[in-house]
Amino acid sequence: MRYFSTNGRSAVVGFREALLQGQPEDGGLYFPAEIPNLAKLAISPWLEGGEAETAFSLMRPYVGGEIPDAALQAICEDAIDFPFPLVEITPGIFALELFHGPTLAFKDVGARFMSRCLEYFSGSIGKRAVVIVATSGDTGGAVAHGFAGVEGVSVVILFPKGRVSRVQELQLTRTSDNVITLEVHGSFDDCQKLAKTALSDSELRNKYFLTSANSINIARWLPQQTYYFVARRQLPDAKIVFSIPSGNFGNIAAGLIAQRAGLGAGSFIAACNANNVVPKYLETGQYIPAPSKATLSNAMDVGDPSNLARISQLFNDDLDRIRENMATASISDEETAATIRKVHEEFGYTMDPHAAVGYASLKRLKKPDHGEIGVVLATAHPVKFDSVAEILGNYIAVPSAVAMLEERERRSTEIANSYSEMIDAIKRSL
Ligand SMILES: *Cc1c(COP(=O)(O)O)cnc(C)c1O
Repeated sequence: MRYFSTNGRSAVVGFREALLQGQPEDGGLYFPAEIPNLAKLAISPWLEGGEAETAFSLMRPYVGGEIPDAALQAICEDAIDFPFPLVEITPGIFALELFHGPTLAFKDVGARFMSRCLEYFSGSIGKRAVVIVATSGDTGGAVAHGFAGVEGVSVVILFPKGRVSRVQELQLTRTSDNVITLEVHGSFDDCQKLAKTALSDSELRNKYFLTSANSINIARWLPQQTYYFVARRQLPDAKIVFSIPSGNFGNIAAGLIAQRAGLGAGSFIAACNANNVVPKYLETGQYIPAPSKATLSNAMDVGDPSNLARISQLFNDDLDRIRENMATASISDEETAATIRKVHEEFGYTMDPHAAVGYASLKRLKKPDHGEIGVVLATAHPVKFDSVAEILGNYIAVPSAVAMLEERERRSTEIANSYSEMIDAIKRSL
Protein backbone atom coordinates (compact mmCIF):
# COMPACT_ATOMS: atom_id res chain seq x y z
CA MET A 1 0.00 0.00 0.00
CA ARG A 2 1.20 3.50 -0.86
CA TYR A 3 0.33 6.62 1.09
CA PHE A 4 0.21 10.12 -0.39
CA SER A 5 -0.10 13.48 1.35
CA THR A 6 -3.48 15.21 1.30
CA ASN A 7 -1.54 18.38 0.43
CA GLY A 8 -0.05 16.59 -2.57
CA ARG A 9 3.45 18.03 -2.30
CA SER A 10 5.33 15.26 -0.45
CA ALA A 11 6.67 11.97 -1.75
CA VAL A 12 4.42 8.91 -1.84
CA VAL A 13 5.63 6.39 0.78
CA GLY A 14 4.92 2.89 2.11
CA PHE A 15 3.50 1.89 5.50
CA ARG A 16 6.81 1.92 7.42
CA GLU A 17 7.82 5.32 6.13
CA ALA A 18 4.38 6.86 6.77
CA LEU A 19 4.40 5.43 10.29
CA LEU A 20 7.90 6.69 11.08
CA GLN A 21 7.34 10.15 9.62
CA GLY A 22 3.93 10.64 11.18
CA GLN A 23 3.16 13.71 9.13
CA PRO A 24 4.36 14.47 5.59
CA GLU A 25 6.69 17.47 5.30
CA ASP A 26 4.16 19.49 3.31
CA GLY A 27 1.89 19.65 6.38
CA GLY A 28 -0.83 17.38 4.94
CA LEU A 29 -1.88 13.97 6.27
CA TYR A 30 -0.99 10.57 4.84
CA PHE A 31 -3.87 8.93 3.00
CA PRO A 32 -3.98 5.43 1.45
CA ALA A 33 -3.70 5.41 -2.34
CA GLU A 34 -6.59 2.97 -2.49
CA ILE A 35 -9.21 1.81 -0.02
CA PRO A 36 -9.29 -2.00 -0.11
CA ASN A 37 -12.55 -3.43 -1.37
CA LEU A 38 -13.17 -6.16 1.19
CA ALA A 39 -15.72 -8.04 -0.89
CA LYS A 40 -13.33 -8.23 -3.84
CA LEU A 41 -10.53 -9.37 -1.56
CA ALA A 42 -12.91 -11.93 -0.06
CA ILE A 43 -12.21 -10.53 3.40
CA SER A 44 -15.09 -10.53 5.86
CA PRO A 45 -13.64 -9.06 9.03
CA TRP A 46 -17.05 -9.16 10.74
CA LEU A 47 -17.09 -12.93 10.55
CA GLU A 48 -13.59 -13.64 11.70
CA GLY A 49 -12.61 -14.50 15.26
CA GLY A 50 -12.34 -11.87 17.94
CA GLU A 51 -11.37 -8.21 17.94
CA ALA A 52 -7.68 -8.89 17.28
CA GLU A 53 -8.45 -11.17 14.32
CA THR A 54 -10.73 -8.49 12.86
CA ALA A 55 -7.99 -5.88 13.26
CA PHE A 56 -5.52 -8.18 11.53
CA SER A 57 -7.65 -8.82 8.47
CA LEU A 58 -8.44 -5.10 8.18
CA MET A 59 -4.87 -3.89 8.61
CA ARG A 60 -3.21 -6.51 6.43
CA PRO A 61 -3.82 -4.70 3.10
CA TYR A 62 -2.75 -1.38 4.65
CA VAL A 63 0.53 -2.80 5.92
CA GLY A 64 1.10 -4.26 2.47
CA GLY A 65 3.54 -6.96 3.52
CA GLU A 66 5.97 -4.55 5.21
CA ILE A 67 5.33 -6.50 8.41
CA PRO A 68 5.04 -10.25 7.71
CA ASP A 69 1.65 -11.79 8.50
CA ALA A 70 2.77 -13.76 11.55
CA ALA A 71 4.35 -10.67 13.14
CA LEU A 72 1.33 -8.53 12.27
CA GLN A 73 -0.99 -11.10 13.78
CA ALA A 74 1.08 -11.12 16.98
CA ILE A 75 1.01 -7.31 17.08
CA CYS A 76 -2.79 -7.29 16.76
CA GLU A 77 -3.24 -9.94 19.44
CA ASP A 78 -0.93 -8.17 21.82
CA ALA A 79 -2.37 -4.68 21.15
CA ILE A 80 -6.06 -5.56 21.21
CA ASP A 81 -6.41 -7.95 24.12
CA PHE A 82 -9.64 -6.49 25.47
CA PRO A 83 -13.25 -6.67 24.20
CA PHE A 84 -15.52 -3.95 22.76
CA PRO A 85 -18.89 -4.97 24.25
CA LEU A 86 -22.08 -3.76 22.58
CA VAL A 87 -24.49 -2.90 25.40
CA GLU A 88 -28.18 -2.18 24.80
CA ILE A 89 -29.13 1.02 26.64
CA THR A 90 -32.75 1.07 25.52
CA PRO A 91 -34.48 -0.77 22.64
CA GLY A 92 -32.87 0.36 19.40
CA ILE A 93 -29.93 2.21 21.00
CA PHE A 94 -26.64 0.57 21.92
CA ALA A 95 -23.37 1.74 23.41
CA LEU A 96 -20.26 0.24 21.83
CA GLU A 97 -17.96 0.33 24.86
CA LEU A 98 -14.44 1.09 23.72
CA PHE A 99 -13.08 1.73 27.19
CA HIS A 100 -12.06 -1.69 28.43
CA GLY A 101 -8.38 -1.18 27.62
CA PRO A 102 -5.70 -0.26 30.17
CA THR A 103 -6.33 3.52 30.19
CA LEU A 104 -10.11 3.22 29.85
CA ALA A 105 -10.46 5.06 26.54
CA PHE A 106 -10.61 4.09 22.89
CA LYS A 107 -7.21 5.63 22.18
CA ASP A 108 -5.66 2.49 23.67
CA VAL A 109 -6.31 0.61 20.42
CA GLY A 110 -4.41 2.99 18.15
CA ALA A 111 -1.66 3.75 20.67
CA ARG A 112 -0.97 0.08 21.39
CA PHE A 113 -1.04 -0.89 17.72
CA MET A 114 1.33 1.92 16.78
CA SER A 115 3.75 1.21 19.64
CA ARG A 116 4.16 -2.39 18.61
CA CYS A 117 4.64 -1.48 14.94
CA LEU A 118 7.31 1.02 15.98
CA GLU A 119 8.94 -1.68 18.10
CA TYR A 120 8.92 -3.94 15.04
CA PHE A 121 10.72 -1.31 12.94
CA SER A 122 12.96 0.04 15.71
CA GLY A 123 15.84 -2.29 14.87
CA SER A 124 16.04 -0.86 11.35
CA ILE A 125 16.09 2.80 12.42
CA GLY A 126 19.65 2.76 13.70
CA LYS A 127 18.98 5.08 16.66
CA ARG A 128 16.91 4.83 19.81
CA ALA A 129 13.37 6.01 19.02
CA VAL A 130 12.02 8.70 21.35
CA VAL A 131 8.34 9.51 21.25
CA ILE A 132 7.47 13.01 22.51
CA VAL A 133 3.82 13.76 23.28
CA ALA A 134 2.02 16.68 24.87
CA THR A 135 -1.36 15.78 26.33
CA SER A 136 -4.38 17.43 27.87
CA GLY A 137 -5.24 14.09 29.48
CA ASP A 138 -6.44 11.15 27.42
CA THR A 139 -3.81 10.80 24.70
CA GLY A 140 -0.83 10.83 27.08
CA GLY A 141 -2.18 8.00 29.20
CA ALA A 142 -2.88 5.83 26.17
CA VAL A 143 0.57 6.52 24.71
CA ALA A 144 2.39 6.05 28.05
CA HIS A 145 0.72 2.68 28.58
CA GLY A 146 0.81 1.70 24.91
CA PHE A 147 4.59 2.11 24.86
CA ALA A 148 5.28 0.80 28.38
CA GLY A 149 8.05 -1.78 28.22
CA VAL A 150 8.30 -1.56 24.40
CA GLU A 151 11.86 -2.42 23.36
CA GLY A 152 14.00 0.20 21.64
CA VAL A 153 11.58 3.06 22.32
CA SER A 154 11.47 5.73 25.03
CA VAL A 155 8.54 8.06 25.62
CA VAL A 156 8.42 11.62 26.94
CA ILE A 157 4.99 12.80 28.10
CA LEU A 158 4.29 16.45 28.92
CA PHE A 159 1.09 17.32 30.77
CA PRO A 160 -0.18 20.49 32.46
CA LYS A 161 0.19 20.04 36.20
CA GLY A 162 -3.09 20.08 38.11
CA ARG A 163 -5.23 20.27 34.97
CA VAL A 164 -6.01 16.60 34.34
CA SER A 165 -8.56 14.44 36.14
CA ARG A 166 -7.69 12.24 39.12
CA VAL A 167 -7.69 9.04 37.06
CA GLN A 168 -5.79 10.63 34.17
CA GLU A 169 -3.12 11.84 36.60
CA LEU A 170 -2.73 8.28 37.91
CA GLN A 171 -2.37 6.93 34.39
CA LEU A 172 0.21 9.57 33.47
CA THR A 173 2.39 9.19 36.53
CA ARG A 174 2.32 5.45 37.31
CA THR A 175 4.10 4.21 34.23
CA SER A 176 7.14 2.13 33.40
CA ASP A 177 10.90 2.67 33.08
CA ASN A 178 10.95 3.68 29.44
CA VAL A 179 8.39 6.47 30.02
CA ILE A 180 9.49 9.91 31.24
CA THR A 181 6.58 11.91 32.61
CA LEU A 182 7.05 15.67 32.96
CA GLU A 183 4.39 17.75 34.70
CA VAL A 184 4.66 21.28 33.46
CA HIS A 185 3.71 24.36 35.44
CA GLY A 186 1.67 25.72 32.57
CA SER A 187 -1.21 25.03 30.19
CA PHE A 188 -1.71 22.32 27.55
CA ASP A 189 -0.68 24.86 24.91
CA ASP A 190 2.61 25.41 26.78
CA CYS A 191 3.19 21.63 26.79
CA GLN A 192 2.47 21.47 23.09
CA LYS A 193 4.95 24.26 22.34
CA LEU A 194 7.65 22.51 24.38
CA ALA A 195 6.99 19.22 22.56
CA LYS A 196 7.09 20.88 19.12
CA THR A 197 10.37 22.64 19.91
CA ALA A 198 11.90 19.39 21.18
CA LEU A 199 10.82 17.50 18.05
CA SER A 200 12.78 19.92 15.87
CA ASP A 201 15.81 20.22 18.19
CA SER A 202 18.78 19.32 15.99
CA GLU A 203 20.99 18.22 18.88
CA LEU A 204 18.34 15.73 20.04
CA ARG A 205 17.65 14.65 16.49
CA ASN A 206 21.29 13.80 15.90
CA LYS A 207 21.23 11.42 18.81
CA TYR A 208 17.72 9.99 18.69
CA PHE A 209 14.99 9.19 16.21
CA LEU A 210 12.26 11.61 17.34
CA THR A 211 8.59 11.04 16.60
CA SER A 212 5.31 12.27 18.03
CA ALA A 213 2.82 9.36 18.10
CA ASN A 214 0.01 11.84 17.72
CA SER A 215 -3.46 10.94 16.56
CA ILE A 216 -2.84 11.67 12.88
CA ASN A 217 -0.32 8.84 12.55
CA ILE A 218 -1.72 6.20 10.17
CA ALA A 219 -0.85 3.45 12.66
CA ARG A 220 -3.06 5.08 15.26
CA TRP A 221 -5.76 6.04 12.82
CA LEU A 222 -6.42 3.01 10.59
CA PRO A 223 -6.87 0.25 13.25
CA GLN A 224 -9.88 2.17 14.58
CA GLN A 225 -11.89 0.68 11.72
CA THR A 226 -12.04 -2.42 13.89
CA TYR A 227 -14.67 -0.87 16.19
CA TYR A 228 -17.18 -0.57 13.39
CA PHE A 229 -16.77 -4.13 12.17
CA VAL A 230 -17.08 -5.47 15.71
CA ALA A 231 -20.44 -3.67 15.97
CA ARG A 232 -21.43 -5.05 12.58
CA ARG A 233 -20.67 -8.59 13.70
CA GLN A 234 -23.16 -8.25 16.53
CA LEU A 235 -25.82 -6.54 14.40
CA PRO A 236 -25.30 -8.34 11.07
CA ASP A 237 -28.41 -7.24 9.24
CA ALA A 238 -29.19 -3.92 10.86
CA LYS A 239 -29.14 -0.51 9.27
CA ILE A 240 -26.82 1.11 11.79
CA VAL A 241 -26.58 4.81 12.63
CA PHE A 242 -23.17 5.30 14.25
CA SER A 243 -22.86 8.34 16.50
CA ILE A 244 -19.22 9.18 17.09
CA PRO A 245 -18.07 11.69 19.71
CA SER A 246 -15.67 13.76 17.60
CA GLY A 247 -12.81 16.15 18.30
CA ASN A 248 -10.01 15.71 15.83
CA PHE A 249 -12.33 13.58 13.62
CA GLY A 250 -9.91 10.66 13.39
CA ASN A 251 -12.31 8.07 14.73
CA ILE A 252 -15.17 9.06 12.42
CA ALA A 253 -12.75 9.27 9.47
CA ALA A 254 -11.83 5.64 10.21
CA GLY A 255 -15.55 4.76 10.25
CA LEU A 256 -16.08 6.40 6.87
CA ILE A 257 -13.11 4.47 5.44
CA ALA A 258 -14.60 1.26 6.88
CA GLN A 259 -17.88 2.15 5.20
CA ARG A 260 -16.14 2.63 1.86
CA ALA A 261 -14.36 -0.71 2.30
CA GLY A 262 -17.67 -2.53 2.70
CA LEU A 263 -19.00 -2.20 6.24
CA GLY A 264 -22.60 -2.44 5.05
CA ALA A 265 -25.76 -0.41 5.46
CA GLY A 266 -25.33 2.47 7.81
CA SER A 267 -24.84 6.15 8.34
CA PHE A 268 -22.64 8.37 10.49
CA ILE A 269 -23.15 11.24 12.90
CA ALA A 270 -20.22 13.41 13.99
CA ALA A 271 -21.24 14.31 17.54
CA CYS A 272 -19.53 17.53 18.66
CA ASN A 273 -19.60 19.60 21.81
CA ALA A 274 -19.63 23.42 21.74
CA ASN A 275 -16.57 23.28 19.48
CA ASN A 276 -18.74 23.36 16.39
CA VAL A 277 -16.41 24.31 13.55
CA VAL A 278 -17.39 21.27 11.45
CA PRO A 279 -21.17 21.44 12.03
CA LYS A 280 -20.97 25.11 10.97
CA TYR A 281 -18.88 24.21 7.94
CA LEU A 282 -21.45 21.67 6.72
CA GLU A 283 -24.23 24.14 7.35
CA THR A 284 -22.70 27.21 5.72
CA GLY A 285 -19.97 25.88 3.43
CA GLN A 286 -17.45 28.11 5.23
CA TYR A 287 -14.63 26.48 7.17
CA ILE A 288 -13.57 28.88 9.92
CA PRO A 289 -11.13 27.43 12.52
CA ALA A 290 -11.68 28.81 16.00
CA PRO A 291 -9.76 28.72 19.29
CA SER A 292 -10.92 25.68 21.27
CA LYS A 293 -13.50 26.17 24.02
CA ALA A 294 -13.26 24.24 27.31
CA THR A 295 -16.17 21.82 27.81
CA LEU A 296 -17.16 18.80 29.94
CA SER A 297 -16.08 16.50 27.08
CA ASN A 298 -12.59 17.96 27.02
CA ALA A 299 -10.95 15.36 24.78
CA MET A 300 -13.06 16.86 21.99
CA ASP A 301 -12.12 20.51 22.61
CA VAL A 302 -10.60 21.01 19.18
CA GLY A 303 -11.02 24.18 17.13
CA ASP A 304 -9.38 23.05 13.88
CA PRO A 305 -9.78 19.28 13.49
CA SER A 306 -6.92 17.85 11.45
CA ASN A 307 -8.64 14.71 10.16
CA LEU A 308 -11.23 16.73 8.28
CA ALA A 309 -8.57 16.77 5.53
CA ARG A 310 -8.93 12.99 5.28
CA ILE A 311 -12.71 13.14 5.14
CA SER A 312 -12.51 15.75 2.36
CA GLN A 313 -10.02 13.54 0.52
CA LEU A 314 -12.33 10.53 0.82
CA PHE A 315 -15.15 12.48 -0.85
CA ASN A 316 -12.97 14.32 -3.41
CA ASP A 317 -13.51 17.66 -1.69
CA ASP A 318 -17.20 17.52 -2.62
CA LEU A 319 -19.06 19.19 0.22
CA ASP A 320 -22.43 17.79 -0.83
CA ARG A 321 -21.06 14.26 -0.70
CA ILE A 322 -19.62 14.93 2.75
CA ARG A 323 -23.05 16.18 3.84
CA GLU A 324 -24.73 13.05 2.46
CA ASN A 325 -22.37 10.77 4.35
CA MET A 326 -21.87 12.57 7.63
CA ALA A 327 -24.53 14.32 9.69
CA THR A 328 -23.37 16.58 12.54
CA ALA A 329 -24.68 17.97 15.79
CA SER A 330 -23.28 20.32 18.42
CA ILE A 331 -24.30 19.65 22.02
CA SER A 332 -23.93 22.16 24.87
CA ASP A 333 -22.55 21.30 28.31
CA GLU A 334 -26.04 21.77 29.78
CA GLU A 335 -27.47 19.19 27.38
CA THR A 336 -24.52 16.87 28.02
CA ALA A 337 -25.07 16.98 31.79
CA ALA A 338 -28.83 16.55 31.35
CA THR A 339 -28.20 13.53 29.10
CA ILE A 340 -25.89 11.89 31.64
CA ARG A 341 -28.57 12.39 34.31
CA LYS A 342 -31.49 11.22 32.17
CA VAL A 343 -29.81 8.08 30.79
CA HIS A 344 -28.72 7.17 34.30
CA GLU A 345 -32.20 7.72 35.79
CA GLU A 346 -34.22 6.10 33.03
CA PHE A 347 -32.00 3.20 32.02
CA GLY A 348 -29.49 2.82 34.85
CA TYR A 349 -26.61 3.30 32.41
CA THR A 350 -23.71 5.61 33.30
CA MET A 351 -22.15 7.55 30.43
CA ASP A 352 -19.08 9.70 30.32
CA PRO A 353 -19.48 13.23 28.88
CA HIS A 354 -18.13 12.20 25.45
CA ALA A 355 -20.57 9.32 25.03
CA ALA A 356 -23.34 11.61 26.32
CA VAL A 357 -22.61 14.04 23.46
CA GLY A 358 -22.93 11.03 21.13
CA TYR A 359 -26.21 9.92 22.69
CA ALA A 360 -27.73 13.41 22.60
CA SER A 361 -26.69 13.82 18.94
CA LEU A 362 -28.24 10.48 18.05
CA LYS A 363 -31.49 11.42 19.79
CA ARG A 364 -31.56 14.70 17.92
CA LEU A 365 -30.87 13.26 14.45
CA LYS A 366 -32.09 9.65 14.32
CA LYS A 367 -35.52 9.41 12.82
CA PRO A 368 -37.73 7.18 14.96
CA ASP A 369 -39.36 4.15 13.34
CA HIS A 370 -37.04 3.96 10.36
CA GLY A 371 -35.94 0.52 11.39
CA GLU A 372 -32.51 1.88 12.17
CA ILE A 373 -30.38 0.82 15.11
CA GLY A 374 -28.40 3.54 16.88
CA VAL A 375 -24.87 2.75 18.05
CA VAL A 376 -23.13 5.35 20.21
CA LEU A 377 -19.38 4.92 20.47
CA ALA A 378 -18.68 5.09 24.21
CA THR A 379 -15.15 6.43 23.91
CA ALA A 380 -14.18 6.63 27.59
CA HIS A 381 -15.09 5.15 30.96
CA PRO A 382 -17.13 7.56 33.13
CA VAL A 383 -14.68 7.21 36.04
CA LYS A 384 -12.09 9.12 33.98
CA PHE A 385 -14.05 12.34 34.26
CA ASP A 386 -14.60 13.83 37.72
CA SER A 387 -17.63 15.74 36.38
CA VAL A 388 -19.73 12.57 36.05
CA ALA A 389 -19.79 11.83 39.78
CA GLU A 390 -20.60 15.50 40.40
CA ILE A 391 -23.48 15.45 37.92
CA LEU A 392 -24.92 12.21 39.28
CA GLY A 393 -24.13 13.01 42.89
CA ASN A 394 -22.79 9.55 43.46
CA TYR A 395 -19.60 7.60 43.46
CA ILE A 396 -18.57 5.56 40.41
CA ALA A 397 -16.92 2.21 41.12
CA VAL A 398 -13.23 2.34 40.25
CA PRO A 399 -12.27 -0.43 37.80
CA SER A 400 -9.48 -2.75 38.83
CA ALA A 401 -7.13 -1.36 36.14
CA VAL A 402 -7.18 1.96 38.03
CA ALA A 403 -7.05 0.47 41.51
CA MET A 404 -3.90 -1.38 40.46
CA LEU A 405 -2.24 1.86 39.40
CA GLU A 406 -2.70 3.32 42.86
CA GLU A 407 -0.33 0.72 44.20
CA ARG A 408 2.44 1.55 41.78
CA GLU A 409 5.26 3.98 42.42
CA ARG A 410 4.65 7.56 41.28
CA ARG A 411 7.25 8.53 38.69
CA SER A 412 7.02 12.09 37.48
CA THR A 413 9.21 15.21 37.34
CA GLU A 414 7.86 18.71 37.86
CA ILE A 415 9.31 21.34 35.58
CA ALA A 416 8.72 25.03 34.95
CA ASN A 417 7.40 26.07 31.54
CA SER A 418 10.99 26.27 30.34
CA TYR A 419 12.72 24.61 27.40
CA SER A 420 16.06 24.27 29.16
CA GLU A 421 14.45 22.63 32.21
CA MET A 422 12.67 20.19 29.93
CA ILE A 423 15.83 19.29 28.02
CA ASP A 424 17.75 18.81 31.27
CA ALA A 425 15.06 16.49 32.61
CA ILE A 426 14.97 14.50 29.36
CA LYS A 427 18.76 14.18 29.18
CA ARG A 428 18.95 13.01 32.80
CA SER A 429 16.45 10.24 32.12
CA LEU A 430 17.32 8.99 28.64
C1 LIG B 1 -9.81 11.64 21.65
C2 LIG B 1 -11.18 11.43 22.17
C3 LIG B 1 -12.33 11.69 21.38
C4 LIG B 1 -12.24 12.33 20.01
O1 LIG B 1 -11.75 11.46 19.03
P1 LIG B 1 -11.27 12.03 17.61
O2 LIG B 1 -10.76 10.85 16.88
O3 LIG B 1 -10.18 13.02 17.93
O4 LIG B 1 -12.43 12.68 16.97
C5 LIG B 1 -13.58 11.38 21.87
N1 LIG B 1 -13.71 10.85 23.11
C6 LIG B 1 -12.66 10.60 23.90
C7 LIG B 1 -12.89 10.06 25.25
C8 LIG B 1 -11.35 10.86 23.46
O5 LIG B 1 -10.31 10.61 24.25
